[in-house]
Amino acid sequence: MTDSPAHILIVEDNQDNRTLLKDMLSMMEYKITEAVDGVEGVEKAIRDKPSLILMDLSLPQKDGWTATRELKANKEVAHIPIIALTAHAMLGDRERALKAGCDDYLSKPINLAELAQKVKTYLDKSQIEPDKSNNVE
Ligand code: MN
Repeated sequence: MTDSPAHILIVEDNQDNRTLLKDMLSMMEYKITEAVDGVEGVEKAIRDKPSLILMDLSLPQKDGWTATRELKANKEVAHIPIIALTAHAMLGDRERALKAGCDDYLSKPINLAELAQKVKTYLDKSQIEPDKSNNVE
């Protein structure tokens, strides 16, 4: 029925959060890749070209804002939607995330319904780009 599942890259240094996100998204049948810091996040985004990136902001090696700016400045991956994961309900963090190029944000603790809705919204948007030609009518 469906074609290959959308691929989501989770960039998050906290293992508990990573596991939680992975469990939630796997339940929705997405393919998941994980990165544990900003450097690995940028590398895997460029290597794998996921359909969507969930980006923690507070990350070792390279923070989420910097990683996002780098990805959005790279033509190969600039089109990939990035949803920031904001640890604190801090307005400043969110504004900085959007300014860095994040398309949206989710507040921690992550709410399953909100996560599902935002992921779906951005994956639907990215379908507009004719990456795959699967016109099976
Ligand atoms: Mn973190």
